[in-house]
Amino acid sequence: MKSDLSRKAEDYLEAVYVISQEKGHVRIRDICKELGTKPPSVVEMVKKLNDRGYLIYKKNEGLYLTAEGEEIGRVIKDRHDTIFAFLKFIGVPEQIADEDACVIEHELHPKTVEQIKSLVSFIETAPDHPQWLDHFAIFCELGKHPCIKDARLSQTMAAQMGAEMRRKADHCGSND
Ligand code: MN
Repeated sequence: MKSDLSRKAEDYLEAVYVISQEKGHVRIRDICKELGTKPPSVVEMVKKLNDRGYLIYKKNEGLYLTAEGEEIGRVIKDRHDTIFAFLKFIGVPEQIADEDACVIEHELHPKTVEQIKSLVSFIETAPDHPQWLDHFAIFCELGKHPCIKDARLSQTMAAQMGAEMRRKADHCGSND
C-alpha cells in the first residue's frame, strides 16, 4: 500500500485504529494521549481527515473511521508490529525498535514488508528454538561466529563468554 497521505496523516489513522480496537469509541483526548499532541493540532488534522473521507468526526460525539480510513490504519498498525518484531529479533532495544518501526512503516515497498513478515513468522513458528538467533547475539557481542573450527580461537572465545553466552553457544558442533 502506498497511500497519498502524509506520514503524519497515516500516524493519525493508525492511532485512531489502535484506540478503536481497544476502546470501541474514539475521542479527541484519546488521540492527544496516544500521539502526545495538543488538542488544537489533533482537531485540525481530524477535520482534514474528515473532509477527505477517512473518518467521520462530530463535535461532542467523537469520531470513527470510514472503511477506507480503517483499511489504512489496519495496514500501518500491521506494518508497525511486523517491523517492531523484526527489529527486536536482531537485538534492537524495545524503545528504539518502537520508535524506528514508526518511521519505517510508512515508506517500505509492500514486497519488502511481506518478506519481513515471513521472516518474523518463520522465527516465531519454528518448531525448535532457532539456534542461529542465539549465535547471532554472540556474533554481535564478540564479532565472531561461535561455531568455528579453529580450536584455539574457540578457547579464546570461551574465555570471553559469560555464562549466558556459553549457554547460547551450547549447540555448537552438533548441527551447525
Ligand atoms: Mn506506528
